[in-house]
Amino acid sequence: MDKDFTSQECPICRLPTGKKSLSQRVHNCQYCGITLDRDVAAAKIIEQRGKIAVGQPVSMKSTCGDRGAGVLQLTLFDLVTGL
Ligand SMILES: [Zn+2]
Repeated sequence: MDKDFTSQECPICRLPTGKKSLSQRVHNCQYCGITLDRDVAAAKIIEQRGKIAVGQPVSMKSTCGDRGAGVLQLTLFDLVTGL
């Protein structure tokens, strides 16, 4: 898994946003306009890739109140701990 490239991809629109320097702490997408902490952005991409790995459809919605979120977190947790 190309973990090193997670900071180069937008977790919302999935377009490449270019390489960031280590001093740049914020992900700012020039395509969809989203601004996130770069660690949060990287985590979202890893989470999406985890869902893809277990055959889950990836939702592009960023709603926190998603009723399926608990199930998806459990699935991701199982994936990580099952390694
Ligand atoms: Zn974007």
